[in-house]
Amino acid sequence: MNKLKGLFVIIITLLVVIPPAAISQRTSVSRLFPVYNNGGKSDLVVDPQRFVAQMEIIDRLFNEGSCAIQEGAVGGTGYRRILRFDTVVMNSGDGDLVVGDRSDPNNPYADAFEFAPCHGHYHIRDFSVYELLNTDRTVVVAGHKQGFCFEDSFKYDGGKANGYNCAFQGITSGWGDWYYKQLTGQWIDITGVPEGDYIVRVRINAAGTFDEGTNRYTNAVETSIHVPDPRKKVTIDNSAEIIDK
Ligand SMILES: [Zn+2]
Repeated sequence: MNKLKGLFVIIITLLVVIPPAAISQRTSVSRLFPVYNNGGKSDLVVDPQRFVAQMEIIDRLFNEGSCAIQEGAVGGTGYRRILRFDTVVMNSGDGDLVVGDRSDPNNPYADAFEFAPCHGHYHIRDFSVYELLNTDRTVVVAGHKQGFCFEDSFKYDGGKANGYNCAFQGITSGWGDWYYKQLTGQWIDITGVPEGDYIVRVRINAAGTFDEGTNRYTNAVETSIHVPDPRKKVTIDNSAEIIDK
């Protein structure tokens, strides 16, 4: 009996330990956005499948002093209704996105960096904009701007990663930088938004910080969403804030 139980625990553990992203990302998305000759430049594009697949609406409690409040990622303290999703920024150009280290005096993006005190590292300011639109495309919840630190999370196409991380930032050609929905700010605050059909839109490289060469692949991704009546209960997620990216 105990042996069986042990086996069961091992199987469950294996299921939990294998990150779903690591196995799922190299399939059809890689075929949609293959790495192409972009004159050695990066071309950034959001993984549209993961964006849609991970989207959910939850309630979450925000206290004074939390990073979300400090960063203005929600409209106020207390319970907020949050529409959250994954943003994976893929680099489908044939050159790495090299953002580098803020402390390098010759860093070409020095002006675009800002220090994120909750994170203890620098972000590229306003890299992505998350918006909720009406079906007639007027804006309901305006641009929550998310800063980014760029790193290699997983492979879509191509070979080995060059190992970019938050200290020396970038995305290797063929790799993606995964901003998962549990990260603080990886959402739109939809508190008080009436029930109805809407469009969720993500724009990347929104400030035009990075030269994407011919930029064959779009810098925007969107999907439709039905927002339930605000009085209707949704899942509550009060797990600890995640700010490790
Ligand atoms: Zn960060």
